[in-house]
Amino acid sequence: MVFNYTEDAVRRMLPEVLKDYLKTHPQTCTCDLCRDDIMALALNQLPPHYVASEEGTIFTSVSFERVGGKAQVVAAITWAIAQVAQKPRHK
Ligand SMILES: [Zn+2]
Repeated sequence: MVFNYTEDAVRRMLPEVLKDYLKTHPQTCTCDLCRDDIMALALNQLPPHYVASEEGTIFTSVSFERVGGKAQVVAAITWAIAQVAQKPRHK
């Protein structure tokens, strides 16, 4: 099984970052479609970090270091939210 730390990091951080973003941008859409778009955009900003074992599925604080640090993950997600909020794929 191949596991991408970056994807897990983004998936785990997204709700928290989105919650923060909503404090200043309460109109932001948080539907499943927009969340998926945010995920995809954020992941394209970050380097993937694959591991090929079940051990990789255990997410620890070290995981953020492996993908360039928590701040980088948060920055990528925040950027992605702004992009999607400006141009949601639906009405
Ligand atoms: Zn939406």
